[in-house]
Amino acid sequence: MGSIKLLSEATIRKIAAGEVIARPASVVKELIENSIDAQSTKITIEIQKGGKDLIRVIDNGIGMDRADIRLAVSRHATSKINTIDDLTQLKTMGFRGEALASIAAVSRLKIETNTDTALTGNYLKVEGGIIKEMAEIARAKGTTISVESLFYNLPVRRGFLKSDNYELRLIIETVKSYVLAYPSIHFVLRSEGKELLVCPKANSVKERLGLFMERARLASLIEIKVDNPLLALYGFFTEPSQAQAVYEIQETFFNLRPVRSRTVLRAIYEGYGATLRGNNPNFVVFITTSPENLDVNIHPTKQEVKFADERFLFDFVAEAVRKGLGIKKSETILKDNFLYQSALGGLIADEQITPNFWQLHNSFIFAQIQSGYCIIDQHAAHERIIYEEVTKKRTMDVQGLLFPIMIELKPEEFTVFEEITGELRKMGIEAKVFSGRTIVVESIPTGTYLGKEEISELFAELAKMEKKDRGKQDEVAKLIACKGAVKAGQRLTPLEMESLLNRLFACAEPYFCPHGRPVIIKITLEDLFKRFGRT
Ligand code: ADP
Ligand code: MG
Repeated sequence: MGSIKLLSEATIRKIAAGEVIARPASVVKELIENSIDAQSTKITIEIQKGGKDLIRVIDNGIGMDRADIRLAVSRHATSKINTIDDLTQLKTMGFRGEALASIAAVSRLKIETNTDTALTGNYLKVEGGIIKEMAEIARAKGTTISVESLFYNLPVRRGFLKSDNYELRLIIETVKSYVLAYPSIHFVLRSEGKELLVCPKANSVKERLGLFMERARLASLIEIKVDNPLLALYGFFTEPSQAQAVYEIQETFFNLRPVRSRTVLRAIYEGYGATLRGNNPNFVVFITTSPENLDVNIHPTKQEVKFADERFLFDFVAEAVRKGLGIKKSETILKDNFLYQSALGGLIADEQITPNFWQLHNSFIFAQIQSGYCIIDQHAAHERIIYEEVTKKRTMDVQGLLFPIMIELKPEEFTVFEEITGELRKMGIEAKVFSGRTIVVESIPTGTYLGKEEISELFAELAKMEKKDRGKQDEVAKLIACKGAVKAGQRLTPLEMESLLNRLFACAEPYFCPHGRPVIIKITLEDLFKRFGRT
């Protein structure tokens, strides 16, 4: 005891890198995105041993000059944003300035690059985050990044990787997404020198789909295009009668970024409704919205995004698919989603809410209702929402964290973890033992703000509870709601406020938080008139 030490720079870098880079496919994703951001028209990916020995991405993009190349491998070095406000106007795939630095920290990395204007190109070799060599080289415009011996300095991580074949499959899936989203880019994927994908520039997404689908299945796709001031949807969907038990492709993109979105997936199935008769459609769907409506920063590798109003997104997509496929509403299965009403139509004790929200001290939301106004405690409201969602839903809607949160638990907390893992899983928190008393949390209930700190607190408090209480789903749910809810002091956008209210009024008991405190206070015009002595 009594020997707290500061971690070395190198250790810190390795730990941080683990959050962005989980496996070869994540390296491939980051490198391809960089090549796309660099306006490349041709991207070649070369793989050896499922990416464990080599991942090389060669592009013909704008390249980097001598000054840039050193910066590129430092943490938080990015050419893409300057200030936090730029995040709301994001037009590039990258912005965190973390990928190259992370990759460099856990591999042997080589960069060869040249710009259009420079006579000579540059070469940089980095090992475990340390620059080993820099030189001038001859190279045409563009960049080649070679990542060798991934995780060579993190043997446990390396040991966690699956077979070469499995890792290669994930890489192929990753490349495929970008091939679909960027028909104008020529892609080549090679493994052990063999060409696995050769995709010359195409004219359309449909042409690219032809590379991956049987002709008959391709022919059964229906093109759907719907525009709305907030969202645009473009995509291809299997005609309902042609859906088969096994699907070949289901891909979702937000602003050309491949993402997993439970909301979109559920909405598409909702749109098909009963017409699927238990089968699964193929689809590729592109959703476009202004960057400010999209939070891409909720996930270390941007594989999940949060739309400002997930409920609206759900309705929009379900409706677009239903109409686009010519499905009558009676054919769809009515689910609890239909209980949802937009804030415009939402009722509070039979009163209309006008969406002219105002947030007071980043903690309370003001909304006008017919008879006056109401004040909503944002934290209590969100607690109520999460509480009902984790206890009532038959299957909890979870948000997978591809780059899981690792937490070292105290002995008593670890005992609790072992005791209630199954219960937590049912409520959307999926975690498993990593090693010793360190656990990895792989998913959390959708729409919650459970980060490392909140989850640590959750276990600390669970450990303090009486054992009989921990056995009660209700008590655990209250705690998850409390830790996962938006905190007082957090600024919300008007859309987030609207979404919060929408979800609140979809609750069975919107007026009280799970601890029984009020969520909403109503003040009538009558009260106001009285107080101003006008009656
Ligand atoms: P980010 O993409 O978030 O900016 P990265 O760590 O992925 O961060 O890359 C850091 C910087 O290196 C980028 O902002 C870009 O300026 C430069 N860079 C990386 N890859 C390439 C590439 N293939 N071509 C040109 N520049 C690149
Ligand atoms: Mg990047």
